[in-house]
Amino acid sequence: MPERKKPSRRGPNRAGPDDNRVECPCIVTHGVQYSTTTEFVFPDTEFGIIINSLFKVFQNARGIEDMGGFFGVVSKNECVNDLFYGTDYHSHLGTRRAGMAVYGDNGFRRIIHDISNAQFRSKFEEELGEFRGRAGIGVISDYEDQPILITSHHGTYGIVTVSFIGNARELTDELFSVRRGHFAATTGMGLNPTELISAIIDTQPTLLEGLMRVQEVVKGSCSLLILTDKGEVIAMRDRYGRTPVILGRNADGYAATMETTAFANLGYSTYRELGPGEVVRLTAAGDEILALPRPEMAICTFFWIYFGFPSSKYEGINVEEMRYKNGMELAKRSPADVDIVTGVPDSGVAHALGYSHQTGIPYKRPFVKYTPTWPRSFMPPDQSRRQLIANKKLIAIPDFIQGKRIACLDDSIVRGTQLRDQAHRLYDNGATELHMRVACPPLLYGCKFLNFSRSSSETELIARRTAQEIDGPDAKIADYVDPDGEKHRQMVERIRRRLGLTSLAYQRLDDMLKALGLPEGRVCTYCWTGKDVSCKGCADCPCAKN
Ligand code: SF4
Repeated sequence: MPERKKPSRRGPNRAGPDDNRVECPCIVTHGVQYSTTTEFVFPDTEFGIIINSLFKVFQNARGIEDMGGFFGVVSKNECVNDLFYGTDYHSHLGTRRAGMAVYGDNGFRRIIHDISNAQFRSKFEEELGEFRGRAGIGVISDYEDQPILITSHHGTYGIVTVSFIGNARELTDELFSVRRGHFAATTGMGLNPTELISAIIDTQPTLLEGLMRVQEVVKGSCSLLILTDKGEVIAMRDRYGRTPVILGRNADGYAATMETTAFANLGYSTYRELGPGEVVRLTAAGDEILALPRPEMAICTFFWIYFGFPSSKYEGINVEEMRYKNGMELAKRSPADVDIVTGVPDSGVAHALGYSHQTGIPYKRPFVKYTPTWPRSFMPPDQSRRQLIANKKLIAIPDFIQGKRIACLDDSIVRGTQLRDQAHRLYDNGATELHMRVACPPLLYGCKFLNFSRSSSETELIARRTAQEIDGPDAKIADYVDPDGEKHRQMVERIRRRLGLTSLAYQRLDDMLKALGLPEGRVCTYCWTGKDVSCKGCADCPCAKN
């Protein structure tokens, strides 16, 4: 058994060293994790050395993170082409790793590739001939190698996950406290989160009980697909439905996807969406519900605002349409006297088209994206390269900028560095005024449910940093949420000045939800409000304090 020294735990989610919040004691409902200063020392045995080095890797990470997208299919006929293209349609959700597994007459076949510098299709196309099967799962993710193949008392199965496990270390500690063993599928970030999920599943007598256990203990979220050695696919949506999982069908069988975009050109029609925490078994003949949906839902609003593909629908609401309506609402509340309206490619464009439509001001493109060599949303891990690439992708068209007053829409402002650079480029090319309109409210809280780069690192958020400049490191962040409040106004004005903008207006939460058409209690708005459905109001709750 490990001897734990200084078992200090601190603040929820991935807060940095200057975060002053206290830990919420609620184990299940908050993203509490061990701080990087926690020390675990296992006895100096061979086993202990392995575990100590594993935790060393954890100390360099902020929990285990992974954003991505998956696709699964079960068919009466060969499914490989559908699996290949269905997975490919998730390329905008992950950037570094991709894999597919099929189950056929010869058992399982799986491949995983690094796609950091190549598109999914170019890496997998040549090997497609080696795949034969009528059931399969595929995934594109940011960090981890998957699908992984597991053999346990549940049989042999392949598994892919889209997850954020805020309490990965705690769960690992718990697993090793009840049994000896090891994790094999490590990644550059340490333990492979999908393997940890499978280890939790395998602690339970049945697969379904294992999946229920994952829903109970993972702090963050976990949606997954399992490919069984009976040629079935089990699909599970995360406990609060933060990520969508949608079922489609055609004449030959059924598919599960995170993006309905994948169905359109593959001949599937949307059959139904899984509810929060729902588990189904898919065969070529249909779906069987293994676990009913839970009543509480908090789907991530950012799927519509930023990272969803325009042609996709979640909860029956199309991404492009929501963005268009959102831009219209923004124009009603925050009009600007300008010559042209534009949107930061790609996710700002539909918001800007709605803004242009509402105001009657023409939409133009003072920047165009150089798509031949920048076809996908490549995001290198370090910030300076990310910024460089963001700038290199966009080419200015001075004829549309010179002497113009411009209203520009973007999905959100994270650090503000890219926006400041773009503003300078517009002014350098002769823009006389730049009025920024942001499609969502200021990001004040780091996401603790998904590995979402737009709001993952709380200390980097320009809105939060600005609030702390105004009120000091102990600033009560909740005071800055109200768009009609004086603190909010001061914060926005400071950001405007820092970014060198003529005017700056953020979308309001109520207007954003009006454009979306879902009630506040059914969507996650934590990164703007600090409040979440998973919060049960514990005494030390960060929701209440901030
Ligand atoms: S905190 Fe923000 S990014 Fe995270 S799930 Fe909620 S809405 Fe999405």
